[in-house]
Amino acid sequence: MLEESSTGQREQIEVTVCAELNRLLDKAISGKRLSPDEGLRILESSDLVAIGAAADAVTKRLHPESYRTFNIDRNINYTNVCSAVCDFCAFYRKPKSLEGYTLDKETIYRKIEETVALGGDQILMQGGMNPDLPLEWYEDLLRSIKDRFPRVNLHCFSPPEIHALHKLAKLPVRTVLERLKVAGLGSLPGGGGEILVDRVRKEMTRGKCLSEEWLNVCREWHQLGGKGSATMMFGHIETLAERIEHLERLRQLQDETHGFTAFIAWTFQPNNTDMAHIAPTGSFEYLKTQAVARLYLDNFSNIQSSWVTQGEKIGGLALYFGANDMGSLMIEENVVAEAGTVHHLTLDTIKRLIREAGYIPRQRNVFYDYIDSADAGEERKPALKIDHVALQVLNWGFSCFPTHKSRHAGWLWARLAVRWEAAPLGSRLVF
Ligand code: SF4
Repeated sequence: MLEESSTGQREQIEVTVCAELNRLLDKAISGKRLSPDEGLRILESSDLVAIGAAADAVTKRLHPESYRTFNIDRNINYTNVCSAVCDFCAFYRKPKSLEGYTLDKETIYRKIEETVALGGDQILMQGGMNPDLPLEWYEDLLRSIKDRFPRVNLHCFSPPEIHALHKLAKLPVRTVLERLKVAGLGSLPGGGGEILVDRVRKEMTRGKCLSEEWLNVCREWHQLGGKGSATMMFGHIETLAERIEHLERLRQLQDETHGFTAFIAWTFQPNNTDMAHIAPTGSFEYLKTQAVARLYLDNFSNIQSSWVTQGEKIGGLALYFGANDMGSLMIEENVVAEAGTVHHLTLDTIKRLIREAGYIPRQRNVFYDYIDSADAGEERKPALKIDHVALQVLNWGFSCFPTHKSRHAGWLWARLAVRWEAAPLGSRLVF
């Protein structure tokens, strides 16, 4: 009897929780802004299907077009020498290390030539905070690249690098940015954001800018008329509330400047780092966090899939969970590779994943202008049917399972797939 009554109470609680989640998801779908508490309540839920479907509905409202996009660029890590110490970084070498390097100009030019030959229109140049490279070195590099490749956009130097340069040059951040802009800087990558909460930053980095300093570099750049991206690296020591705080700080700055073109979230890659004891975050949490970001960041137009960390299968599935863009072809990626995660996709694969999601692939630049002509006559094909998606989710979930050694994740994937298949047609689960 007692057992029956506690079962009844549990069911009642589950119904209430479900109704509350649906209310919040409906609020976001209709375009109303979620509060931090509401964002957290969604993130705490494990109803990936409902959250993903809501994120997809928001994506379709913001992007009713029949295209989903990608970019072609090359990530050039011009130096691995860094004065900061980040426990999550497997890439950097300390100043004076025999393994430290700084690429010479000829090597950089050659990499850009290869990028252009492959149809790329941009380079993403980031590196460590090398104390031996003064502001003039950066200006000279940008100028010389622009002389040779005037049409290539220089998407360079994350906010921590700019902040370090301002310290090294003893000049205001605004002056450093103005000088780099004059020299050819085209847009600012959003790297080094990790989690924009100082408790988290102080615990895992030393010698790197704090949250407000990171945001201020972006603010100054946007006020100069510049554009850039925003990122989040999660799945380490942050709490769920701190993930939401990160999103909240980005949303506030975007309200102020409208300078962010896109948001990209990826999971911490622990191999070869001082935080290797932390278990990697699985695909379930990746997709849910990205979907919540789509619901929460109502003033961001674009969300990119992080197939570089998630691989082809989950990277493609991300297009059903709030992403409208496959990010960059990434001709070269050293930082994530150093942490043991090496996913490479060909251009054909990226286009196939977009087509499988029911859209036509288009190449864009960093400002999200289409830079190709739509393939004449290409018609949008229907997306995978729900039962196919369910099967793929099940297969992919279990294929991730041995890697992450998580029975719980496997169980959640199975539950997701079953619920997906059982979803009645016409409900919010129809993609
Ligand atoms: S993440 Fe960036 S700032 Fe931190 S150690 Fe690595 S290269 Fe340096």
